[in-house]
Amino acid sequence: MMDAGRPKILDNVCQFVGQTPMIRLNRIPQSMGIECEVLAKCELFSAGGSHKDRIAIRMIEDAEKAGLLKEGSTIIEPTSGNTGIGVAMVAAVKGYKCILVMPEKMSAEKMDTMHALGATIIRTPNVPFGSAESHICVAERLHKETPNSYILDQYDNPANPKVHYDETAEEVLDQCDGRLDMIVIGAGTGGVITGIGRKMKEKLPGCLVVGVDPEGSIMAEPPSINENPGKFWEIEGIGHDFVPGVLDRTVVDKWVKIKDVDSLQMARRVISEEGILVGGSSGSAVMGAMKAIKEVGLGAGKRVVIIIPDSIRNYMTKFLSDQWMLERDFFPTTELQKQYSTWWDLPISILDNSKK
Ligand code: PMP
Repeated sequence: MMDAGRPKILDNVCQFVGQTPMIRLNRIPQSMGIECEVLAKCELFSAGGSHKDRIAIRMIEDAEKAGLLKEGSTIIEPTSGNTGIGVAMVAAVKGYKCILVMPEKMSAEKMDTMHALGATIIRTPNVPFGSAESHICVAERLHKETPNSYILDQYDNPANPKVHYDETAEEVLDQCDGRLDMIVIGAGTGGVITGIGRKMKEKLPGCLVVGVDPEGSIMAEPPSINENPGKFWEIEGIGHDFVPGVLDRTVVDKWVKIKDVDSLQMARRVISEEGILVGGSSGSAVMGAMKAIKEVGLGAGKRVVIIIPDSIRNYMTKFLSDQWMLERDFFPTTELQKQYSTWWDLPISILDNSKK
């Protein structure tokens, strides 16, 4: 099928960013007794592999227009990986040098991809964001030491939510013909939830905006639901120990907290039961959607969209490995879980973490 919005021949790979497919989930919601329609907005099918390609292009083009980036400039960016991949991809196409600063927690696969794209990568320890060794502080230090360098600053750059407001949200509205009751989105910088949330408040105020935050992070509201703040979580790209400047929590109607075990088991289920090769935070978003649908009581005839950020490519040696899952106790372990497990086929009642 031809894509009406894309030229037949693309000038470069950056033109294959955006216009991602919307795919119905046909098994998982149904297995949990959910009757509403659940759709996945699959940002993994973007040239660099995630929704962060969109912000990489926008932040770089804005900086070029403002005269902050020119031939010979070095782009520096702190990243959990996907922004780094997007930035390195755009930098490769446009000929910029690129230094990416990424915490140790993030996967080797992301580092190898950024390296292959020609970027220099600095790894930082998994420390609180205010620490001098954090990826954000190290990026600032490198910027001061590197002549003709510029930090795009996805955490505070308004271009981050704006591109999702202008593009991602418009695509969702178009693909749904304006009929949508809930949208579920994991928050890292908060760019995608803020951009889409703002558009929904303007164009479809009846649509519930649901934020997904991993256990250990403190970004959800009310603060009382942020149990075990500071506890390590495995899921990459979502959650922080601070609230990023671009995250506007006033556009989020409801937050759900998700544990690693539930996110990763769900990511494996999406792969094995829906055939969509998603990454770990996509599992958090799908699990978050299942919980939110149950809690709000959305029934037949309603429609829910889940933002699917990236793919298994970033996690081949992590949750794609059965051994890795086993070592961390992420396989179904309780008798009840095993009893229901094809891979895992649990009724929603035992998705309530307090009952585990
Ligand atoms: N999932 C993954 C895998 C990501 O890399 C990111 C970006 N950090 C997110 C979700 C969250 O996106 P955002 O930064 O726009 O909140």
